Amino acid sequence: MEKLGTKKCKYCLSDMHEKAVVCPHCGKDQRWWNSWLMFVVYLIIAEFILTLIIPKLFNF
Ligand SMILES: [Zn+2]
Repeated sequence: MEKLGTKKCKYCLSDMHEKAVVCPHCGKDQRWWNSWLMFVVYLIIAEFILTLIIPKLFNF
């Protein structure tokens, strides 16, 4: 069972402070926007913006 105010590191599974941004054990960033899921979301947003803006630039 996890202690109150602690969470597991996503990478090394050590206990760390709930609000810690970087794991004290392995030094990995724990922020959710640093994950691969956010990378995919960024790509989708970028493609969405490009498909909206590029036709306007070239007057399609
Ligand atoms: Zn860690």
